[in-house]
Amino acid sequence: MIFHILTIFPEFFDGPFRHGVVARAAESGTVEIRVHDLRKWTYDLHRTVDDRPFGGGEGMLMKAGPIFEAVESIWPERNSSRKAILLSAQGRKFTQNMARDLSGSREILLICGRYEGVDERVAEHLADDEISIGDYVLSGGELAAAVVIDAVARLLDGVVGNTDSIVNESFERGTLDYPQWTRPAVFRGWAVPEILLSGNHEQIRKWRRETALKKTLRMRPDLLNS
Ligand code: SAM
Repeated sequence: MIFHILTIFPEFFDGPFRHGVVARAAESGTVEIRVHDLRKWTYDLHRTVDDRPFGGGEGMLMKAGPIFEAVESIWPERNSSRKAILLSAQGRKFTQNMARDLSGSREILLICGRYEGVDERVAEHLADDEISIGDYVLSGGELAAAVVIDAVARLLDGVVGNTDSIVNESFERGTLDYPQWTRPAVFRGWAVPEILLSGNHEQIRKWRRETALKKTLRMRPDLLNS
């Protein structure tokens, strides 16, 4: 899968994908991450990407022109396996299901806003979707783009070594993951639940399902009601 990132801070992405699962997926060629500097599609001396909002108000907005030109030059043709996504606090809240849907695309292009946001025509006429990574306001879409790429890339075939570990994860079966422990069996007087040392795999499976439900009820009851 190819991820394109459109940003005014291309150097931001020197770091996030140099480690772990996504780095390995990039090394093996399962994913390719192409970072595009939005200012490449500006033609004035100052390489301007922003302007004042119509109707007045605080700050500056990212102009539609450079973003449209960038996307149209990266993708001269659009089709259903190419998804352009605007990162935005006003978007649909990103979920594991959305990550799974996106993992079926061949190319994803993530548009990172800055300043007070992006001219609305980008959301209305260019992006296939507008996605928020949570109910808070970030200063730019770059962190959000990195989050989306990480969540989608790890769902691609062969990226996470053991597919079981994905199937059992939080959100995959309507609950959070079950709590887990590793050695030592007793740490500072806190012992691991005895059943996990029993070797009875059927009992352990049942117990894990129950504890996952209990933890979901405690931490995220909304998941059980949806
Ligand atoms: N004025 C906007 C609002 O209140 O909705 C916030 C603009 S924010 C300072 C600048 C950029 O950060 C946005 O254009 C968007 O790309 C990104 N951003 C901020 N919060 C985000 C979130 N929760 N999810 C995804 N992107 C976000």
